[in-house]
Amino acid sequence: MIMKVLVINSGSSSIKYQLFDMPENKVLAKGIAERIGIRGSCLTHYPDQKPAYRNEEDITDHGVAISLIFAALIHPDHGVVRDVREIDAIGHRVVHGGEIFNQPVLVDSTVKENIRRLSGLAPLHNPANLLGIEACEQIIPGIRQAAVFDTAFHHTIPPQAFMYGIPYWYYEEYGIRKYGFHGTSHQYVARRAAEILGKQPAELKMISCHLGSGSSITAIQNGQSLDTSMGFTPLEGLVMGTRSGDLDPAIITFLMEKEKMSAAEINDLLNNRSGVLGISALSSDFRDLAKAAADGNDRARLAIDVFVHRVRKYIGAYAAELNGLDVLVFTAGLGENSPEIRAQICQGFDYLELWIDPEKNNIRGKEADISAQGSKPRILVIPTNEELMIASETLQVAGN
Ligand code: ADP
Repeated sequence: MIMKVLVINSGSSSIKYQLFDMPENKVLAKGIAERIGIRGSCLTHYPDQKPAYRNEEDITDHGVAISLIFAALIHPDHGVVRDVREIDAIGHRVVHGGEIFNQPVLVDSTVKENIRRLSGLAPLHNPANLLGIEACEQIIPGIRQAAVFDTAFHHTIPPQAFMYGIPYWYYEEYGIRKYGFHGTSHQYVARRAAEILGKQPAELKMISCHLGSGSSITAIQNGQSLDTSMGFTPLEGLVMGTRSGDLDPAIITFLMEKEKMSAAEINDLLNNRSGVLGISALSSDFRDLAKAAADGNDRARLAIDVFVHRVRKYIGAYAAELNGLDVLVFTAGLGENSPEIRAQICQGFDYLELWIDPEKNNIRGKEADISAQGSKPRILVIPTNEELMIASETLQVAGN
């Protein structure tokens, strides 16, 4: 039986959506409501086989955004359903599931309360995710809604990998531990990699590199997350567009003293003004950096080199944790679209007998095996599809 599943990714100032026919994986429409609560807001709606539609009405809050999305979905000219009640279920991306949610769940009042309680761990994200859930409930009372958590895939990480070397009490009191993020993406590419290779996930030791404006790497064994580079928050791990990734924690107290910075200022520095943007003083976008580096800008070159160095360090560490490597996957904006970065990352892994094929690597935005003949691990490019993964998880939990 075909079910219409709406996927909602509700952020603090934007809501992205996609309506699927499942299990056909067919996208009926997608779009984005942007600048919610900010001047100049707009909704852009892309129905399948119909012209795109733009609505520049004021979007004052998440409730208004969701009602405009439903209005677009049933619009006589641009809509793809006649009535919102044709939608069978809604799947929501929820960023933080803490230690409570280790798989997608059907939303009820207890689930909502728990998502609210976890807002302390994701103050920018969980409240926005909850607003999306509640706005949908208002418009279609009784609709089955699933919450799909960014952290859930990482619930299999063992304690020796998720504990920090600080007094245990902070874990008990505040839940300070590694949670990991981008779980839906890592899980999706791991499944696809096994399908592409015609193997069971249990047969494969994988490292997936989600390299976008936010980046993370995951070690995957038996189809489960064994370790991941993001931590208590998405700040840990790789050097990202604007986030520092790993650094000596003493730098924080040093800067607080020297520059008289507050906790909020440090937070802003490390999340918004660091990473390749901070090093290059030019851009957080790798396309700009690549162009500047080619024109002789040394700092842009350095920013790229620091980024690549950190990725390589994690690949080495995770190959050690996995005690081997069968598949290396590249995904997300940069991983899918930059042959240059992939080539640079894959240099010097002779000890893993991992070699990239320069010809096959010359692709962007599509699935491909880019490993050279003779390379022991396969190197795959797999465009991520978090929306499809959320739709299929929603079908699982809300399908009955
Ligand atoms: P987000 O985390 O916002 O979803 P994306 O996965 O879209 O991020 O990735 C954005 C990053 O991907 C940007 O740094 C951008 O430079 C990079 N990127 C996108 N397309 C290309 C391309 N064709 N070549 C190089 N880098 C690209």
